[in-house]
Amino acid sequence: MRFALVNNIRCQASPGTIAFCPGCSQPMTARCGMQRIWHWAHRGNRNCDPWWEPETPWHHGWKDQFPAGWQEVIQRDEAGEKHIADVKTEYGLVIEFQHSHLQMQEKAAREGFHRNMVWVVDGARLKRDRSRFLRGRRLFKPIPGTSIFIMRSPEESFPVAWVRCTTPVFFDFEGIAALNEPSGPNRGMLWCLLPERVEGQAIVAAVPPNAFLNAARKRAEIFPVQTVVEMVATRLRHEQVLEARRWAYALPPRRGRSFRRHRRSKY
Ligand SMILES: [Zn+2]
Repeated sequence: MRFALVNNIRCQASPGTIAFCPGCSQPMTARCGMQRIWHWAHRGNRNCDPWWEPETPWHHGWKDQFPAGWQEVIQRDEAGEKHIADVKTEYGLVIEFQHSHLQMQEKAAREGFHRNMVWVVDGARLKRDRSRFLRGRRLFKPIPGTSIFIMRSPEESFPVAWVRCTTPVFFDFEGIAALNEPSGPNRGMLWCLLPERVEGQAIVAAVPPNAFLNAARKRAEIFPVQTVVEMVATRLRHEQVLEARRWAYALPPRRGRSFRRHRRSKY
């Protein structure tokens, strides 16, 4: 973990310091080596949160975008179950940064526990995830005038383990380091797959990382998901009506119909 209590103050690890876990109050040792980022570890390799994963520079790059007080926030539910949120904003949004693979059950458990949360997934960890996305992206159908796309088979673009979540999933295929890099259209974007489906279509939003961070620092929702879903539903219905009309005009007029029209026009 990045923060532990030294004299009841949240501190980062420094060599030789003894601290206590803010979750379980057990003593923690400062790990300040060359290989991994300096951090605190429970003694004897035990960890009080089974959901905790060893942190990478990618985690820290993202978490550093938020105030220290929003990072590693201990969360307890009514039953006393306790977990550490990577980031919890003062607007109540939990952001979990996930680098490694996660079992379906744990994913669902975390979504149920935190409720108002989004995932940010490290899409650059496996080369095949990024190349699958670049191939799949060609099949995205844009909703004109927006940065929203729809597609039939999101599993052709995103890791299959992440296409059936109950919360929005932001895929970071570029890495947080790309945040300040000059980029072309759609480069350096976070790609947000929504949990909802409309007429069997998945919805994806391209979100610049800066817009993600600005929203997370100011609101309880990164963008209004329900409004986006309704907008897509309206557009698809509208397209269906247009399509139906195209077919109707393409068909030859039926005899009965033209006869009735003729008779009606006499009166
Ligand atoms: Zn602990």
